[in-house]
Amino acid sequence: MNNIEEILKKKKLTKEDLLILINTEKAEDIDRIYRKAYEVKLENIGNKVYYRGLIEIGNKCIKNCLYCGIRRENKKIEFFEMTREEILESAKWIYENGFASIALQAGERKDEDFVNFIEELLIDIKKISNNKLGVTLSLGEQTYETYKRWYDVGAHRYLLRIESSNKDIYNTLHPSDPLHNHDTRIECLMDLRKIGYQVGTGVMIGLPGQTTNDLVDDILFYEKMDIDMIGMGPYILHDDTPMGIKYKNEVISVEKRVELGLKMIALTRIYLKDVNIAATTALQGLDPMGREKGLKAGANILMPTATIEEHKAKYQLYNDKPGISDNARESKEYLDRSVKAVGDQIIYDDWGDSPHFRKKKMEEI
Ligand code: SAM
Ligand code: SF4
Repeated sequence: MNNIEEILKKKKLTKEDLLILINTEKAEDIDRIYRKAYEVKLENIGNKVYYRGLIEIGNKCIKNCLYCGIRRENKKIEFFEMTREEILESAKWIYENGFASIALQAGERKDEDFVNFIEELLIDIKKISNNKLGVTLSLGEQTYETYKRWYDVGAHRYLLRIESSNKDIYNTLHPSDPLHNHDTRIECLMDLRKIGYQVGTGVMIGLPGQTTNDLVDDILFYEKMDIDMIGMGPYILHDDTPMGIKYKNEVISVEKRVELGLKMIALTRIYLKDVNIAATTALQGLDPMGREKGLKAGANILMPTATIEEHKAKYQLYNDKPGISDNARESKEYLDRSVKAVGDQIIYDDWGDSPHFRKKKMEEI
């Protein structure tokens, strides 16, 4: 039996084990790791895939993250803000198509108008779906009070990526000012947990200067923070960003970033077992079969975009973001085919809560 096989037999892997697995180069060993991750998914989640209908509601952002296409200082952005009616129309489409859950994402804004807008919107989303649509928010760093207000009117999951658990790497991705602070991000994750949200985080993979040791530390960070859902994907250059310009010819190859992205999904599944893990759009951005491969490597969540056609192209986080010209129906049909091809089953009309979160709730009773 080779070393990989021995490690995969263990009940609980050590950091050294994770490092050996992530550094594995032989194609058949990598394949074995993906197969093991799929087995762990079957044992803990089943072959079930849950959809979150993703609505990108606006691209105005007060932040200036050095990697992101909708950063404050990108003067080429054409701004958009979906109206309440447009968002509700998309939410209704999602609900009527049996997706039990939506995710609202946007650039970061903390102004009172925005906080009130989201609060009222959440009330309306619950109304139009007879209280049935589950809502995930991904609206950046907010105060405890804001997170609580949104939770109290029906948001129950929140996705806030740590981007990298290594503070030094985080600092290379952001301007050095109080608005971009690694500690604040961690505090936000703790606030979200305290309020009662299912908490999601994740990292970008294949960042300049990032090692496999850093990536393994990211998985240990998910464990330490008791994270319920993971959304992580490869870093992709955007030409109109400082990092996109600086690292144009220096990022690791597309193939390597896809492989690392898949290995991270697989190792997170093997190590944490019962969390929800998304196969992200960024993975598909680098490999047309990226999301299918993500499901095979242990992911169980897909987030088809339901942003209205007119605005999709303006939410360009990175070069060649996929699905920009698809409409919501086309992206759903495409995903339906992908999931079936993998041998997984799409679960409609079910929130698809993270089993990890559900178990914790049961223990509290
Ligand atoms: N503004 C909120 C925030 O930052 O949490 C939510 C929206 S933000 C666009 C969502 C995620 O997009 C970020 O957490 C980041 O990981 C990802 N992202 C942004 N630019 C990216 C890039 N160039 N490559 C890969 N992912 C990127
Ligand atoms: Fe704004 Fe989020 Fe992009 Fe940073 S990653 S610039 S916070 S939208």
